[in-house]
Amino acid sequence: KPVVAVVGRPNVGKSSLVNRIIGRREAVVEDVPGVTRDRVAYDATWRGREFTLVDTGGWETSASGLAAMVARQAEYAAQTADVILFVVDATVGITDADEAVTRVLRATRRPVVLAANKVDGALQDSDALELWNLGVGEPYPVSALHGRGSGDLLDAVLDALPEEAPPETLEEEGGPRRIALIGRPNVGKSSLLNRLAGEDRVVVDAVAGTTRDAVDELIELGGRTWKFIDTAGIRRRFRALQGADYYATMRTGTALERAEVAVVLLDVSEPLAEQDIRVIEQVVDSGRALVLAFNKWDLLDEDRRYYLEKEIDRQLGRVRWAPRVNISARTGRHVEKLVPAIETGLASWDTRIPTGRLNTWLKELVAATPPPVRGGKQPKILFATQADTRPPHFVLFTTGFLEDNYRRFIERRLREDFGFEGSPVKLSMRIRE
Ligand code: GDP
Repeated sequence: KPVVAVVGRPNVGKSSLVNRIIGRREAVVEDVPGVTRDRVAYDATWRGREFTLVDTGGWETSASGLAAMVARQAEYAAQTADVILFVVDATVGITDADEAVTRVLRATRRPVVLAANKVDGALQDSDALELWNLGVGEPYPVSALHGRGSGDLLDAVLDALPEEAPPETLEEEGGPRRIALIGRPNVGKSSLLNRLAGEDRVVVDAVAGTTRDAVDELIELGGRTWKFIDTAGIRRRFRALQGADYYATMRTGTALERAEVAVVLLDVSEPLAEQDIRVIEQVVDSGRALVLAFNKWDLLDEDRRYYLEKEIDRQLGRVRWAPRVNISARTGRHVEKLVPAIETGLASWDTRIPTGRLNTWLKELVAATPPPVRGGKQPKILFATQADTRPPHFVLFTTGFLEDNYRRFIERRLREDFGFEGSPVKLSMRIRE
């Protein structure tokens, strides 16, 4: 279920708004800062769409001041939420703390919906201008107390939620594993697919429903059958009808949703492009396993090879964990190495670390390198659990916020000690005060 986090400084009416949305009166609401102690998660529904609403109201003002406190809250929310519902008090106007939150939210690139609370009716022009100037989009006037405007606000929240997985993503378990071949136009997807399929390929399911014209192909490789997702978008004969760019932009997302592993093709005869990086980012965000295939290796000379290494170091550091294969779709060079790389990625993707083992490991790690002190307090990590696989998702239960750097450190060590080659790893925190 997608997560919507409610963010804002104390007293803007977050809890009333939460109550209004969930239609119950569960959160403690009082006109005193810091009353709602805990960050609470609620199940909410709007127009039949279910989501989890997280009230981040529980941060006490610390010595570092209100602005720093709410900025931290926003940072936390951005970490864990799909959409952020940012609440300001329109009767007070924009404060320093609101601006601090805005800065954090803008940096996170998460969708933000701005609620201007305590407004009965429409916004005054001058207020509207000030709110628009925050730069997080349209302000929705609401009165949490009387319920006015909350319908429009929730519509905006729904619009910002990630697309609901279409029913076709519920692929059968135990069937062939699903590969998406992706990359910007002309990197060689079509050529590679032809090379892999050979002559006697079988065109299988024309997928009925939402993705028009999607065609998956079953291809036998390395002794097992694989399902290549939405090959209609890849093959030249289909592309003539649709335009190459159409696939690159529109279809990658839906192909990823249905796939388990993505093979991203890169063209070594040209410098890595912005679009290559975006495609890789898209895979990481989708949580799919990732293999990088450096294609057109037959065109590589020594000079270019030197620069390629540099580019990889500089631009692909974030996905150092992805297996790399250097291939030529044209000559067939090393194409057979794709399958073991894909299998490695999928195995990592499926991995589950038993809780006991995970916590023994974590205890040692934290004893050797404790989390940095934050706001005068030493956050403790109480325990960890692997909440999910595909991809592995770890949840740390802590007594305080762990800095980005420290979370990245944990992820790095997880990878060093447990592998996860070819799979993204998610790490989240549950903070218990
Ligand atoms: P797509 O848009 O990603 O499907 O790319 P295509 O498969 O259509 O390939 C684009 C161009 O690159 C075509 O002219 C191919 O012949 C060429 N090409 C693809 N793979 C290789 C390769 O490994 N080596 C060389 N030299 N050319 C390739």
